[in-house]
Amino acid sequence: MHRVAVIGLGLIGGSLGLALRKAGWPVSGFSRRRETVSLAMALGAIDSGAQSPGEAAAGAEITVLATPIRAMPQVMVEIAPHLPPGAVVSDVASTKGQVMEWAQAHLPVGVSFIGGHPMAGRERQGLEAAGEGLFQGAVYCLVPSAAATLGAIELIKEMVELVGASPLLIEAREHDYLVAGISHLPLLLSLALTRAAAGDAAWPALGRLAATGFRDATRLASGSPEMGRDICLTNREAILSWLDRFSAGVAELRRMVAGGNEELAGVFAQAREIREQWLRAKGW
Ligand code: NAP
Repeated sequence: MHRVAVIGLGLIGGSLGLALRKAGWPVSGFSRRRETVSLAMALGAIDSGAQSPGEAAAGAEITVLATPIRAMPQVMVEIAPHLPPGAVVSDVASTKGQVMEWAQAHLPVGVSFIGGHPMAGRERQGLEAAGEGLFQGAVYCLVPSAAATLGAIELIKEMVELVGASPLLIEAREHDYLVAGISHLPLLLSLALTRAAAGDAAWPALGRLAATGFRDATRLASGSPEMGRDICLTNREAILSWLDRFSAGVAELRRMVAGGNEELAGVFAQAREIREQWLRAKGW
């Protein structure tokens, strides 16, 4: 049992608090609005509320930052003077390179920072959308900083496993590249698809005709606009590289469609086979 402080009690922070409390770990919490802290107490996501990020972090062995990505450097500055010696700090941000740089710049020597990213989420935001089972079966990326001790890494792995997720140790650059391909690119494509259809004069008719295919392909466009922006601004290089690759793929498909190419069936068949195999491997 280890005392955890969660800063930012929204979908991810609230879900983490609920899962840790269910497992019997004590959790203190801080969030920007007082009402959110009160609601977190009422829902059982935390067992004590703090008046500041520093107060929450001061009494904790592990502090997890679960705010929007670009609020994190300021939170690090605020908790830095309050962290007990040997404290372990983590985060849940969807991008890792930038966060690792902020931690290096703002957290004191002697603190073990281990970046984190649970590969689980929802389109809805806020504490109301949180659930104790959100991390069950999810991969949870962990990016230890150079200063992180082995004991700290083991402690964060224990926390991740406690909430039902599988820890995956990974380097920040690799994380950001891989996640750009399977999460950030789909997010932007979902956005582009929505904009393409809604930008057409026939959108009212298109919207009436659109069924589950369009709904599924545009699901990610219903997520938090601020989170989408923060992801794009903190993982630019990797996202641009995937967008370029995707554009080349679209151009190739365009040539095949324009040329009436019979081999399109083979392209569809290959993609279907790859996706079916992947679904089977996932157990979905
Ligand atoms: P969220 O539901 O909007 O929760 C973030 C919470 O942080 C808000 O409820 C807000 O609480 C609080 N907050 C905002 N600024 C703050 C500050 N300066 N200090 C303290 N609290 C602050 O968002 P989320 O989906 O949980 O995302 C949180 C983090 O998880 C992000 O870094 C995101 O990249 C990452 N993430 C998200 C997902 C996903 O699918 N959503 C998946 C994996 C990782 P108040 O109510 O107090 O204003």
